[in-house]
Amino acid sequence: MAGVDVEALQRWLRGFAASVAEQKDALTALDAAVGDADHGANMHRGMTAVLDSLGTPAADPAALLKQTGMVLIRSVGGASGPLYGTLFLRMAGATGGEGALEPETFAKALRAGVEGVVARGKAELGDKTMIDALAPALDALDASLGAGEPLPAALRAASTAADAGRDATTPMTARKGRASYLGERSAGHQDPGATSAALLVAAAATALGDQGTG
Ligand code: ADP
Ligand code: MG
Repeated sequence: MAGVDVEALQRWLRGFAASVAEQKDALTALDAAVGDADHGANMHRGMTAVLDSLGTPAADPAALLKQTGMVLIRSVGGASGPLYGTLFLRMAGATGGEGALEPETFAKALRAGVEGVVARGKAELGDKTMIDALAPALDALDASLGAGEPLPAALRAASTAADAGRDATTPMTARKGRASYLGERSAGHQDPGATSAALLVAAAATALGDQGTG
């Protein structure tokens, strides 16, 4: 298989939905410590709606990514819905309607998606948000692809970086979102959104990694 096509992206979304379902209570427990105890429920509602939407055929990766973003924005009430929705909408906008994305195009689309999240949420690295998992993952992805690694290896590197970025949120003081209301009392707790974002990157490594895409 050459590149990331609709089937590969659907595998990614199904894998992420499965991880979210499995980690729903853990994500909510993290949000109970620094927020309002709904991150697991929010993400599970959103990804269940995304799974339902996969029954609607998508012509190309851009159409699937756009549909996914719109479903997330529509179905998730919390801050995370519009942010994850923006990620997928911007990814869609960064592809040119091709049937399969080259590894570099996939990486560029992901970067556009994360830049969209930053533009919308105004979070910087170190603010204790999903950006702390996503930004290092992107840098690792680009560095690996730039060094000539195939997409599977580059996504594994991205997933390792996302996990490290997630872990690094624990000592941080939140400066964005609900957790920021706690001020310094938010320190000592892993960020829920960084945790779900690491699951998203891990799902990409699994779904796009072992299919000869690179
Ligand atoms: P809510 O905070 O509305 O209850 P969720 O609990 O679903 O929404 O999501 C909380 C997560 O959203 C946080 O852990 C954080 O990672 C992420 N988040 C919140 N605000 C922002 C922001 N401005 N930019 C990026 N991520 C954010
Ligand atoms: Mg919450």
